[in-house]
Amino acid sequence: MEFDDDVALDTSQVQDTRGSGGVGGRVALGGGGLGLVGLIVYFVLSQLGGLPASVPLSTGGVRDGQSLSSSDLSKECRTGKDANTKDDCALVAIINSIQGYWTDQFSRSGRTYEPATTTFFSGSVNTGCGGATADVGPFYCPADGRVYIDLSFFKELQTRFGAQGGTFAEAYVLAHEYGHHVQNLLGTSDKVRPGTGPTSDGVRLELQADCYAGVWANHATTVPTSSGKPLIKSISQDDVNRALDVAARIGDDYIQKNLGNGRVDESQFSHGSSQQREKWFTAGINSGNPTTCDTFGTRNLG
Ligand SMILES: [Zn+2]
Repeated sequence: MEFDDDVALDTSQVQDTRGSGGVGGRVALGGGGLGLVGLIVYFVLSQLGGLPASVPLSTGGVRDGQSLSSSDLSKECRTGKDANTKDDCALVAIINSIQGYWTDQFSRSGRTYEPATTTFFSGSVNTGCGGATADVGPFYCPADGRVYIDLSFFKELQTRFGAQGGTFAEAYVLAHEYGHHVQNLLGTSDKVRPGTGPTSDGVRLELQADCYAGVWANHATTVPTSSGKPLIKSISQDDVNRALDVAARIGDDYIQKNLGNGRVDESQFSHGSSQQREKWFTAGINSGNPTTCDTFGTRNLG
């Protein structure tokens, strides 16, 4: 994918806490229905020798005190030209594009989109959903309306999940998390009943977020960002293939088979199979219309 060199980036949509030392020792994945929604089943990385995922729950609430160093990004990432040359600036550009699309889409349907900040962290972070470590993978916290990501996840995708990677593969991950933000704004997430399994509400929520990611991708080269122009100049078939490659490698069955105990147990599905995740991302990218992402209204999830 290529960004337009001349279009301005909006770094205010990203909070960069990397290098601030995180929140110190013992933080935790929010328990007790705090409702953090991730990209993958959360214990995967910890099973593979990462940090412990279940440790005592820390205090809730966002600790904005943990060093707001977005100023560095604002110096580093000024235009699409920076996005074409620096990885973290590319992510800023992608976040701008995703939110540009949803701002536009919401206003078309008479609603107001509320922008969500993405926090880049390293190691651990405190959120409105409790503390979390990088083990949970990228996630969205409905309680504070923010996306959180330790960028080392993108390396994990390649080294542990065997993904090809690439900027557009990363864009799919971010667009999926923003899909959860959209669900939160629309009230969809509130209706989800807890539980796992191939037709569970949780799987339907995740597949819808994949579909919303595809819908954004359909519009990515045309939708203006706050500067008034589209930031993304082109997306290739290879880019789309790389996003689909990631979707396949974070499917529940793929993870259970290749990163778990080797057996596929559908009753434990929380995000959908590889095939389903590819199917719904593709449905979104083909239609470009969020109403086609009705994973709750269909019997056939794929
Ligand atoms: Zn998700």
